[in-house]
Amino acid sequence: MTAPSLILSFEDARRSVEDHASRATPGAKETLDLLSAAGHVLAEPISADRDIPPFPRSTRDGYAVRSADLKNIPAKLRVIGEIKAGPNQHSSPMNSGEAYSIMTGAPVPLGADSVVMVEYTSQQNDSVEIARAVTLGENIVPQAAEARRNSLVLNPGTRLNEADIALAASVGKSQLQVFVRPRVAVLTTGDEIVPIDASPGPTQIRNSNTYSLAVQIQQAGAEPVLLPIAPDQPHRLHQLIEEGLHSDLLIMTGGVSMGRYDLVEQVLADLQAEFFFTGAKIQPGRPVVFGRINSCGSGRPARSGASAQPPNKYFFGLPGNPVSTMVTFELFAKPMIEALAGMSPRPLTFTHARLKSEIRTKTGLTRFLPAILSGTFADSHAELVPWQGSGDIAARSRSNCYIVIPPDRDHIPAGDWIAILLR
Ligand code: AMP
Ligand code: MG
Repeated sequence: MTAPSLILSFEDARRSVEDHASRATPGAKETLDLLSAAGHVLAEPISADRDIPPFPRSTRDGYAVRSADLKNIPAKLRVIGEIKAGPNQHSSPMNSGEAYSIMTGAPVPLGADSVVMVEYTSQQNDSVEIARAVTLGENIVPQAAEARRNSLVLNPGTRLNEADIALAASVGKSQLQVFVRPRVAVLTTGDEIVPIDASPGPTQIRNSNTYSLAVQIQQAGAEPVLLPIAPDQPHRLHQLIEEGLHSDLLIMTGGVSMGRYDLVEQVLADLQAEFFFTGAKIQPGRPVVFGRINSCGSGRPARSGASAQPPNKYFFGLPGNPVSTMVTFELFAKPMIEALAGMSPRPLTFTHARLKSEIRTKTGLTRFLPAILSGTFADSHAELVPWQGSGDIAARSRSNCYIVIPPDRDHIPAGDWIAILLR
């Protein structure tokens, strides 16, 4: 059986993955200690257990005043006490002509509508003479301005970063319910590929794709499951693909081009796989494959205790050239992994910079070329890293982003704004 030829534009291929990802279901949930939950995907809604801030909070050191008392400057106010951040800060309501000395983070007393830093003050005993208020504005965060008690502060589907962990801490959560990380099988193929601890023969190549993929899979929020290297031999490839289908997603690399020994699609077709695309008009990474396979129908016994496991497993066949593998993972495999991990979908985002030196290329493909983004606050620019093509891992390692070239451009002059995909 042969696989159909379905070559899509970059946008259509990406949309296809996003559509399927939006229907993917995340797995089981687990409860983790707050710190261990960082990097995991939240599986429960988190609400504020009280107003944030719980009291009107002064945002600076100064004097809590009634602004009406400062209409005419200089003004002399009676300082009736000091309020600092801390427990048991009681203050009586302020009357006209009165002020409190107040510290950052302290509760603003009733009656005050402003906290001012003052200049030219003379403070004698219990009064302050205000010649000029240096800070204008209120300098008070009203009670509940950041979140109201019982309101939702974190949605399920959030990949927990340091701010989310801090927010959970601030509402008293010492444990969080998260999704169990999906398992993603990595299957590298090729007769020339040898394990990294073997000494390669003169025409053998060390397996590096398994490692870039393992890192990208972890960064995307999943757990890599590394399979042995598959030779370009249908029977063994078949066996290892079936083994890979025990995981929640299967990512293969190599063997998807048009060559005589590129057997991955053929073996997948023999397993009655459904193909959504077998190529994308991109460089690098043109032969990328995305599809789904019925892992029960492939003659494999169901995983023990895995009755809840969906029988249809998604797979990606990524081109073997190492930079192609990394780029196609980023563009296509990542959103599927994030969905399986329970993350809310998010679009691919680009930044923009000025091109440092002109680019000439051919039209027809959307290109994602290794580049270096540098510059200053006011002037960021990017330039291509010289490379030997999509096998050049060293060039990719020197880069920190990809310059994105739309398929209708064959020339981009220096100084033009260009899209950048950050890494
Ligand atoms: P393929 O996609 O199988 O035609 O492979 C394209 C190129 O990528 C060939 O030069 C392969 O040797 C190389 N390649 C394939 N798989 C790997 C791998 N796992 N690690 C490093 N290079 C690889
Ligand atoms: Mg190969």
